[in-house]
Amino acid sequence: KACEVACKQWNQLPEDGFFFSGMSYDNTVALGASTWRHVSFVERPVALAPQNAGAFSWLMSSDVCKHCARAGCLENCPTGAILRTEFDTVYVQPDICNGCGYCVVGCPFGVIDRREDDGRAWKCTLCYDRLTEGMTPACAKACPTESIHFGEVEDLREAARNRVEALHERGVHQAYLYGVDAENQPGTEGLNAFFLLVDRPEVYNLPPDPVIPTKRAAESWISMGFAALAMAAAALGAVAVGNKR
Ligand code: SF4
Ligand code: SF4
Repeated sequence: KACEVACKQWNQLPEDGFFFSGMSYDNTVALGASTWRHVSFVERPVALAPQNAGAFSWLMSSDVCKHCARAGCLENCPTGAILRTEFDTVYVQPDICNGCGYCVVGCPFGVIDRREDDGRAWKCTLCYDRLTEGMTPACAKACPTESIHFGEVEDLREAARNRVEALHERGVHQAYLYGVDAENQPGTEGLNAFFLLVDRPEVYNLPPDPVIPTKRAAESWISMGFAALAMAAAALGAVAVGNKR
């Protein structure tokens, strides 16, 4: 959890309660307005091939805002508080946010959240202040196993694909990339923070097929059009029947 701690420390995020969740070693439980990195400990009653450790394996996964290519939070925000930065990251401007919460329902990953005390929306900035100084985000800098990689996203994609190939050669055939590009995840057009997984997305509390609401807008308008036509036809039919009587 070095990434989680480094994020809290660098961004001076308030604590969000100390309690025992009973979920393995995970007492943080989820991302939130004051938890911008969350390391989950997934205990599974199955072995992770090719390990020989009996019917048990532990998946550690460090979740974060994905800085989506099409960001539901940004496209839902009516005040322009959320913007796309020069680093292609998604940033909330706290001085403009009015706390309406539209972004919260726009994120298909449940990342962005409003703080109870000030009502405004908060999430990972990918350490925007560090990026402007040419520094690595605090989470990636602190990660002792280099599980979190930071760099040009195209380089990361290539490295991740090579890593999956290497894992397959070593017998971890279930390894795959989640959200690596638009083809892989059309509902977001790809993630700038993507993941290498070895089980179904749901096991890591990730949606299998996330779609941002604005991508469904055309479908919704067409459905509303058909519904309006059907209601008009029903009303005309009722008037015609009434006239006959
Ligand atoms: S993961 Fe959610 S909060 Fe982060 S950029 Fe995508 S839609 Fe916005
Ligand atoms: S809560 Fe703030 S960031 Fe979210 S949609 Fe409303 S104004 Fe935009």
